[in-house]
Amino acid sequence: MHLTRLKLAGFKTFVEPTEFLIEPGLTGIVGPNGCGKSNLVEALRWVMGESSFKNMRGSGMDDVIFAGSSERPARNMAEVALTLDNSDRKAPAAFNDAEVLEVTRRIEREEGSTYRVNGKEVRARDIQLLFADAATGARSPALVRQGQISEIIAAKPQSRRRILEDAAGIAGLHSRRHEAELR
Ligand code: ATP
Ligand code: MG
Repeated sequence: MHLTRLKLAGFKTFVEPTEFLIEPGLTGIVGPNGCGKSNLVEALRWVMGESSFKNMRGSGMDDVIFAGSSERPARNMAEVALTLDNSDRKAPAAFNDAEVLEVTRRIEREEGSTYRVNGKEVRARDIQLLFADAATGARSPALVRQGQISEIIAAKPQSRRRILEDAAGIAGLHSRRHEAELR
């Protein structure tokens, strides 16, 4: 599976609908301070199931919605859509029929957020498992936050093991085993 497109609307500084094509190879994002480079990476993290607003530099979940500026009124809704190419059929069974998966997360002010895959509503948990199996996702070491490297160096061995397991793509397995044991 690989990411091919990211679409944003009303998300932080991306007020008007904006679309990024993710071509094969390395992609660089350049621009002046405050132009929204980190916001873009946070959009990726958010659509992959981030549930902590602190990891999104916010003080509440609604802080991802455009808050308004001197020229533009605030929005009441934000939406991020991430397109995945699943032609290698590596997605979990529930989603594996489709060649292309469009994962959408939408938030409305004071209403919380919902997830869809190819238009069908799914649980946050399904999204987290989808990305955990692909060794990516909101909490994965594929997305490196500022200050995260020093956290890894200072981490206890058990937390460091979690990081390595996430990187190896087996976090989803552990999480499913834990659910099975609780049943
Ligand atoms: P740097 O080069 O300094 O790292 P950057 O390109 O990463 O900058 P970001 O951190 O992505 O910039 O963008 C920060 C800007 O996004 C700030 O001006 C902040 O006010 C704005 N911002 C964040 N959340 C919202 C929101 N909900 N509504 C409007 N603006 C927002
Ligand atoms: Mg930044």
